[in-house]
Parts: sequence; structure tokens; C-alpha cells
Amino acid sequence: MPASGIVRKTFWPEQKPGMVQTFVPVRIMKVAEISDKKTTVRRYNAFGQYMKQLYRAPVYKVNVDAGFTCPNRDGTVATGGCIYCNNDSFRPSACTSTASLREQISKGIPYLRSRYGAEKFIVYFQPYTNTYADVGILDRLYREALDNPGVVGLAIGTRPDCVDEEKIALLETLGRDHFVLVEYGLQSIYDTTLSFINRGHDYACFKHALSITIGRGIHVGAHLILGFPTETREEMLAMADEVSRLPIEFLKIHQLQVVKETALADLYAEKPFAVFGYHEYIEMLADFLERLSPDIVLQRLFAAAPDEILIAPLWNKTRSELLRDLDAFMEQRGSYQGKAR
Ligand code: SF4
Repeated sequence: MPASGIVRKTFWPEQKPGMVQTFVPVRIMKVAEISDKKTTVRRYNAFGQYMKQLYRAPVYKVNVDAGFTCPNRDGTVATGGCIYCNNDSFRPSACTSTASLREQISKGIPYLRSRYGAEKFIVYFQPYTNTYADVGILDRLYREALDNPGVVGLAIGTRPDCVDEEKIALLETLGRDHFVLVEYGLQSIYDTTLSFINRGHDYACFKHALSITIGRGIHVGAHLILGFPTETREEMLAMADEVSRLPIEFLKIHQLQVVKETALADLYAEKPFAVFGYHEYIEMLADFLERLSPDIVLQRLFAAAPDEILIAPLWNKTRSELLRDLDAFMEQRGSYQGKAR
């Protein structure tokens, strides 16, 4: 057992002494559909590039908290929520439901303009379940968000069990004149994992949500987490194959993080399980991206919970360091999205 006391399962192989990284001659993927000549050859399809190509301008997300809750917390589906869920781990401090939607947007836009040179904006309904309300309320909130100069669309994070024909019809209507992206939390394609994390829905539920969303002019994304102790490394990689067969355009993936005030933190304290080491995760990501369809656009590759609530893994890396190290690793290995397909 490692000195840390963490029981490392065999599915995360240790680096063997003398093991060398095989160098594969670089064949850079040219993402012709989303890159212009001045920019870039990239090893994976990145959301920023995609949006820049689509709007010919830098497009950034303005995160908002519209005051939704979640059926997996309020007892409608379950109580307690997903075992890893602490919404503070993914909600920026500027995004709070105490400010009105309009206030949050009008504060966020100038910040993104001056900090990043953003020119156009997607309003991102992020915390909790952002279709969990009557369709009349959703209509008002979404239209209010779109009623802002510079806002070109919406991204809506939700659960696959919180959409229905009426809500999809609303999104379809809005999608005629705007970029409308629905991001379905999936987290894993394995029902044993979904049950372990108290997700409150199964994989079939996700596929049903997809089936009623596609072909309606709505962009569709999914969210996966890599590192649940219920899955082997190969099972995690097989999710790349599976989602590549689905009609999704966007994907968020990130490492499992154990954060304070969650059921997962209690489990981890009782019986620590293996979490990804930094280099281990970089290698995992490269392998995953190689198996992923080159048509899917990546919106996220890492999670970054605030230091005050993060228990594990503790990498102490900035976002730009993470992306730089991934790029360097992929370049050194000759990796690119879809290479293994
Ligand atoms: S569905 Fe989302 S908001 Fe609800 S408990 Fe799970 S992670 Fe948290």
C-alpha cells in the first residue's frame, strides 16, 4: 500500500521502472472546420476556437445563478443529491442568486470584455438544474438573458430527467434566432456508477433526453466525470467510444474531485480510494481524446474546485498550466483527438 494509505486499485497501473513513452511521429490534426489559417492547428477541438470560428469574434460565457434548485436534492427524485455535489465547487463567486439575472449579466459582461477581450456572450445557466421549473418561468428567464446586447445565446446545464416536450419546444423556438446549448449531466454511462453516486437516473434516461432534443435546432452536450472508484481505467476509456456514437456535439469531462461537505468526502475519509495523480490524469485524458470522435467539441477537460473546499486530488495547478501540460504531453506522444478510432 502506498505511504498515503490510499488503496490504489489495479485499474490505474503504476508506472513501471524502465517504462518509456513510445514516441509516435506527429501527425497534427488540422481542425479545418473550426480553425482559420492564422490560428491554429489543435490536437483537440476546443470550445473557444469553435465559438470564435462561428461568430468571428471571441465568445465567452457569463455564468449566472437563476435560483433553481435540484430534484435530486429537494426530495422529488431523492434527497442529498449526487454524492460528489457541492455547488460551490463549480459556481464562480461572482455568480449568486441574490443578484437578479439582469444584474449578474450586466456585471459579468464588462468584466469579460476587459479581462479577456470578449466581444460576444453566451449566458450560462450553471448551478443546479436549470430546466427545473414551469415552462412559463423558463421562458421568462431565458428571454431575459437573451435580451442583452452582445448576448448571442444560452448554455443550460440540466439533468436528463428534467426536460419534456414542452421545454424542448421552448428551446427549439429560442434556437431559431440564437445559439442554444443544452448540457446534460450524465457523469457515467454505467448504471452501477450512477447508482453509487446517487444520481437518481440511469443511462437510458439520458438517451431518452437526447432523443427528444436532437433534430430540433438545439445544440446538445454531455458531461462526464473520470475517476469514480466503481470503474476501471478501461471502462472510463470506453465511455469515449460510447459517447462518440451518440448525436452529441459538445462534451465536458473532468477528473473526480472530492470536496468538503459531500457524501463522497465522508466516504473518502472513512476509506480512502484512489484519485487521479496529476500526470496519471494527463495521460488518461490523452488516451480518452484519442478514442473520442474528432467531431465532438470539448468544453472542459479539468475541474478546479476552490482550494478552500477541495480535499483531493491536490494538484496545485492553474488552468493554463493544466492545458499547457496536456498540450505538451499530446505533442510529445503524437496524440490527437480521434487518433485511435
Ligand atoms: S444533479 Fe447536479 S445539482 Fe443536482 S445533486 Fe446532482 S450534481 Fe448536484
